[in-house]
Amino acid sequence: MWSRDRYKQMAEAVAMLYVKALKDMPPDVRIALQNAEQGETAPIGKTILGTIRKNIGAADRENLLICQDTGTPVYFVQVGEYAEANPVAIERAIRQGTERATTSHPLRSSVVSPITRKNPQTNTGYRVPVIHWDFVEDRDDVEVVVVPKGSGSENMTYFRMLLPADGVLGIKRFVLESVVGSGGNPCPPVIVGVGIGGSSDLCMLLAKKAIIRPCGERNPDPEVAGLEADLLQAINASGLGPMGLGGINTALAVHVEHAATHISQNPVAVNIQCWAARRGRLTIRSTGDLAIGF
Ligand code: SF4
Repeated sequence: MWSRDRYKQMAEAVAMLYVKALKDMPPDVRIALQNAEQGETAPIGKTILGTIRKNIGAADRENLLICQDTGTPVYFVQVGEYAEANPVAIERAIRQGTERATTSHPLRSSVVSPITRKNPQTNTGYRVPVIHWDFVEDRDDVEVVVVPKGSGSENMTYFRMLLPADGVLGIKRFVLESVVGSGGNPCPPVIVGVGIGGSSDLCMLLAKKAIIRPCGERNPDPEVAGLEADLLQAINASGLGPMGLGGINTALAVHVEHAATHISQNPVAVNIQCWAARRGRLTIRSTGDLAIGF
């Protein structure tokens, strides 16, 4: 079993991970933004993309946050079947790391009670950080991905129980209406996460999981990958553009995750990630070695 020291090291590493995710843009997103700027045909869109890239460069140079919104801390934890770790202690380490980063950096605390709106100034609260778990075969490590989920994009989240008769066409229409209807609110160009199938709760989780995939990486299922390509083309043909002010780059990517569903259901969810598509990955190997990346 993991020692007590291992969980202490993990809490420290989670604190570093959270800060790094807020300051250091993943390379795949940097490349996607660079390509978008080079290919943008609308002058205003090109200017906005240039400003976004200057913003990222300033954050790199000055060791600053990429965006003022520290977001809601959302964690995806994968536990290998041979990892001798205690999930309760892992959850405690994630909470401690989030709080430590917030108070000692310090970071803006964006998390409040939904009833009293009281802010504990820790970026944590009842049931937050949000932690999702997966248990994975044939591995002995633990992996933690953090997504500080900005509110401009999280506010633009959609779910619909379509009819089976609506088919894939209905899914496409719903995704397109959701993204274009959001206008500039989610700070485009965005990564569009789409969940299809499952139950209502699983469908929403799939849409959120979809946004953590490296930008533009296709779903391994060719039919789903084709749907991603169709949706990306349709969204960018809308002309909404960077920050909703016109251009051919409304979305950097569309990622779809799916699950089997009930014979009488056709659930679809959309979760949008803004251009500040921040994420960080902490891997804890069975030897105790820690690695932080994207
Ligand atoms: S939606 Fe993203 S880019 Fe826009 S303010 Fe929020 S975190 Fe920043």
